[in-house]
Amino acid sequence: MDDLQFGTRNKRGDWAPAAHLELPPFWQRPLKLGKVLRWIPEYLFPWNAFHMATALLYWFYVVPDVEVMKSLGWGWALWLYAVNAGAIFVMYGSVELFWYVRRKQGNRFKYNAKFPSEQPSDVFWFKSQNIDNFLRSFFISIPLWTLVEVLFLHAFAAGYVPWLGWSDNPWYLAALVLLAPAIHEVHFFCIHRLIHTPLLYKWVHSVHHNSVNPSPWSSLSMHPVEGFLYHAVAFWHLVIPSNPIVAMFQLHIAGFGAVNGHIGFDKLEITENNTLDSHAYAHYLHHKFFEVNYGGDGLIPLDKWFGYWHDGSKEGEARMNARFEKKKARMNARAARA
Ligand SMILES: [Zn+2]
Ligand SMILES: [Zn+2]
Repeated sequence: MDDLQFGTRNKRGDWAPAAHLELPPFWQRPLKLGKVLRWIPEYLFPWNAFHMATALLYWFYVVPDVEVMKSLGWGWALWLYAVNAGAIFVMYGSVELFWYVRRKQGNRFKYNAKFPSEQPSDVFWFKSQNIDNFLRSFFISIPLWTLVEVLFLHAFAAGYVPWLGWSDNPWYLAALVLLAPAIHEVHFFCIHRLIHTPLLYKWVHSVHHNSVNPSPWSSLSMHPVEGFLYHAVAFWHLVIPSNPIVAMFQLHIAGFGAVNGHIGFDKLEITENNTLDSHAYAHYLHHKFFEVNYGGDGLIPLDKWFGYWHDGSKEGEARMNARFEKKKARMNARAARA
């Protein structure tokens, strides 16, 4: 597929989409009903439907009996870790294998023309972004994901929190399922903005940002503090009355959904004429410019409201640069006073 029909490539070979990022249509003015209706299937497919499907698969085939989960134990915790790690290995690993190792579509639709394996750097363990990111995912972030999972399942099973049933509360729980991606966006924005404050950035979040040119393994490459806070989004379902399947869906949006922002390609060519939109551009711009787009696609447009939104356009770039200039002037003034 010719990616230049959808965007432009600069001298370095980096590709950028021609279409700018848009907030979901219900945030756009004037409100266009047709656009809102066309957006709904996009909201559900493929990603949120996929996370719901994996949540159901887990619930029926992976999660142990409620009786077992009434007490904490290494046995079922390690079992959940094994399934999480295996699933991530297969899911992230297949994107890595086909698009990064075999490079089935070369650098068509790739934001950064280079591949991480071509750029060894001292910031990474063993100087390799791939090895570093892989080890951090499997030995730090996925164990913490599993810890969050074990704790909320135990809380539901032991009766520490209300467990709403589907037959008694179908509409409420369905609404909660539809809201879960918005909960994710607000939670992620808040913890992410927090770890971009100078001290926490230095000690915690810089680990994730070492990958300026992210690939699938970068998704969960995090410092333990971030790895825990990120997955702790599922704990919201211990605070609001909910059901463990919805909490599992919330957790999967975080754990499995992390790859979205780090695919590195705008579109994955699945077959000759079929592509899958990655929705990676907003977060790619975050890895490139650091202080823009702390949230996701703007389902709840906190970035827009706080002035951090970069939609990939020239105007977006100019707004960002003006903000950076102002920040520099503020810091210089402070330094001069000191
Ligand atoms: Zn990232
Ligand atoms: Zn960040």
